[in-house]
Amino acid sequence: MHTKIDRDHLWHPYAPAVNPPPVNGAVSASGTHIRLADGDELIDAISSWWCAAHGHNRPEILAAVRGQSEKLSHVMFAGFTHGPAIALAEELLKKLPPRLNRIFFADSGSVAVECAAKMAIQYQFARGLRKKSRLAALRGGYHGDTIGAMALSDPGGMHTIFSGLLPKHFFADRPKCRFDAEWDDADFSPMRKLLDDHADEIAAVIAEPVFQGANAMNIYHPEYLRQLRRACDEHDVLLIFDEIATGFGRTGKLFAMDHAEVVPDIMCIGKILSGGVLTLAAAIASEHVSDVISEGGRGAFLHGPTFMANPLACAAAAASVRLLDAYDWRNNVLSMERQMRRELAEARDLAGVDDVRVLGAIAVIEVKKIPSSARVMEIVRKHGVWLRPFGRWIYAMPPFITPEDEVKLITDAMKELAHG
Ligand SMILES: *Cc1c(COP(=O)(O)O)cnc(C)c1O
Repeated sequence: MHTKIDRDHLWHPYAPAVNPPPVNGAVSASGTHIRLADGDELIDAISSWWCAAHGHNRPEILAAVRGQSEKLSHVMFAGFTHGPAIALAEELLKKLPPRLNRIFFADSGSVAVECAAKMAIQYQFARGLRKKSRLAALRGGYHGDTIGAMALSDPGGMHTIFSGLLPKHFFADRPKCRFDAEWDDADFSPMRKLLDDHADEIAAVIAEPVFQGANAMNIYHPEYLRQLRRACDEHDVLLIFDEIATGFGRTGKLFAMDHAEVVPDIMCIGKILSGGVLTLAAAIASEHVSDVISEGGRGAFLHGPTFMANPLACAAAAASVRLLDAYDWRNNVLSMERQMRRELAEARDLAGVDDVRVLGAIAVIEVKKIPSSARVMEIVRKHGVWLRPFGRWIYAMPPFITPEDEVKLITDAMKELAHG
């Protein structure tokens, strides 16, 4: 593999182009394993950024893509529809709460978030509430890297550099009450105050339900979401759930919102949606929201990506969603949760460890300082487990098909990383 061309000419995510951190050359992948150019294999303990939850190269998904590629690889979605988009809609409607039934496909999670935000603004605009032109979000949140999605993410870090460019939204302190702790009513006070003070300027609140991912790795109490639903209703504010990381089983329920039995007005999905094969996401609105935006057919939703509802991606996603009925992912995720909780408990006593959290197929060790990228690569290669700690988190989000002996290798590697 010509890694000099990579080193000299390719930019990798969140990395400098000069003196970049080491990368592995991947040549193939199947199930939980990624095969490397030098012949080694790594267990993919983070499902390739959380998306390959049914394992790499699932034959069902590949067959769907192959079959579709022989018929129609792409056609614009304005003025056309096609079988894979319709089949995927049918699969999604079987899984979604009945209230969420208008699906707008986008080509990545960040774009789905942009679409959800635009829907919320257009909804309020159509009702004549033009002052409701901003959103409220949670500190510690992550909604993507495009300008609009970044503006809704935790206002630390990237906001400083891009502040001249970002629309200004409202932020409430992140939920602190732990998932399994007794609910503390004070946890919702910051959001309640924010809505009391500014609801007339707020079109919608956006939140990652139960699990705040990339900017916090925080697992919080579902009661927060019930309070949030109630407060949004009282203040005539829409509720958007970003289920891009949590949707399709990651937290042990089909959707993370199911822990609270709360349904938003708009929901974003992505990542596991297309089974880690092709890029696809969606913003899904309630019929009420889409009806108001549509103003009886006079109002169009103003968005249209070139590759919207790409047939290959839709075929992959329909197969991926169908897989949820083909194996017992719930039981797998529950067993992984129990095992990771048991095996990581002792990490709590390590000197550099601040916290250990596990929910579904998500395990997080929060440390004071993560090891250098060279040290991470050394430990990862020694254990044959692919992990990529960042911020203050050593975390795993393995595929739902990971067997017990491989989960053990993952937790061993995590503990060694936590040692430093
Ligand atoms: C990954 C992620 C996104 C962004 O999705 P992309 O496909 O990377 O654009 C948005 N929200 C959440 C919660 C995510 O985890």
